[in-house]
Parts: sequence; structure tokens; C-alpha cells
Amino acid sequence: VIERSRKRAIVILKGFRCRWGRCVFCPFFLEAGNSLSDVIQTNDKILSLLEDATLRFSIERITVFNGGSFFELPLDTVLKLSRFTCGRIVDIESRPEYLSFDSVRQVLELLKPSRLVIRVGIEVWDEYLRNAVLCKGIPQSEIVRLNALREKCREVYGDEVSFIAYILFGIELIPESKVVESVEELSKYFDGIIAVQYRRVLDSLPSEAIPSRELILYLQQKCVDVDLKRSDESEWCFTGEVRYVIAD
Ligand code: SF4
Repeated sequence: VIERSRKRAIVILKGFRCRWGRCVFCPFFLEAGNSLSDVIQTNDKILSLLEDATLRFSIERITVFNGGSFFELPLDTVLKLSRFTCGRIVDIESRPEYLSFDSVRQVLELLKPSRLVIRVGIEVWDEYLRNAVLCKGIPQSEIVRLNALREKCREVYGDEVSFIAYILFGIELIPESKVVESVEELSKYFDGIIAVQYRRVLDSLPSEAIPSRELILYLQQKCVDVDLKRSDESEWCFTGEVRYVIAD
């Protein structure tokens, strides 16, 4: 997805099934590759579209999604991606267990971004909701560890590396009071919060809840970004088709 006004390319790469793979709300297994050649070849096609986009548009930021953690991508894809990331702001996503000072350093060395933003899906501050209800598998101790990692990266790299937490809203399993609590608490541990409205992609997944206007206004004030569900959302249609969409 090319966001011309934000000078950003959102690149949705093909990955394998997330190694955790247990979150009750997650549909990303639908797009997972079934062999290394499938993943590499599909990503080659996606990256050739990215190359085309970098020639046609002014792109200062590349946001990479792969339906799991960035560290689960084949090295072949990461090396090819690095042709486009050098000197640009780059966002990646990861579960906490892949993140260490060494793994962050390696990403910096490989991608050479002007700034690296690491997004971690925490979803909700309440540990019972996160792990017993959503099956996220992230203990509170990992949030504390990531905060220490963030501070170490800040000492060494300054503003070059930042850590952002995703939280989930608009899902029946998380009351709005717990969404607000998540923003308040996680803001103490991360450089910012991105609130993502839940999309029920399959009937077997939990139901959506319509967020109140008050909650949306609150999130828009407090979060660095609020990903609201839109009527036209081609990036949430899991067709497996390789294409790009130009958005303003
Ligand atoms: S960690 Fe992310 S990709 Fe993996 S199952 Fe959970 S939501 Fe899905």
C-alpha cells in the first residue's frame, strides 16, 4: 500500500506461519507460505513492486509486515529488502522473544535504516486477558525486559531505534476500560502506542465490538496511530494476490 501523503510504503510480505501461532484473534495463518521457495518467490514479486514504487513515488518510510515476526522471514528476503531500506525510516514487527540488543543491532546492520521502529503486539496490559483469554503468550516480565532493552538502545543509538506497542480494541473480549488501562500503562514502557481495531476475518474468530465515540477520541489523543476499520480494506482481504494499492 502506497500512502502518498505520508510518503510511506506498507509492504506486506509473505512469511511462514508464526511460530507462536496461538492468539485467538489471529487470521494471519491464512496467508502463510507452505514452502521456502513459495515464500522467497512471492516476496521477490512483492519486492519488485516495491522497487517500482520507490521509482515512481517519494517514499521516506517503509513499514514491513509478514504475518508474524520479522525475524521469521528468510534471510534471502531480508537481504533483498535491504536494497530499499537504506536511509529510510523502517518499521518492523516482532514478538518479544526475538528481540535482544544483538538482534536489533543485526537488523540495523542489515537494513541500514535512518530510523528503526520496532512494533510489538502486546494487545492488552491486563495479563489475564492477554494470556488466558487472548492466548498471547507474553508474560509481564517480557514487557519489563523490553523496556530495559529500549533504554539500552536509547543509550547506544539515541533516537535511531524506538519501540512501539500495539493494543487491540473493538473486540468483545476486551472491555473499553481495559483498552484505556493498556494505553496508560504501556505508555510507561514504550515510546508510543498504536491502537488497532480488531477485524473479524473468519467466522471462527471472536466477535467484534463497536467502539464508543469516546474511546476513539481518547485513542486519537493518546496514541501515535489509530488503525480504524474502513469500508474498503484491500490489505485485510487475504486473497494471496500480489498487487499494490495507491492511497492518499
Ligand atoms: S503473535 Fe502475532 S502472528 Fe503470531 S499468532 Fe499471535 S497475533 Fe498471530
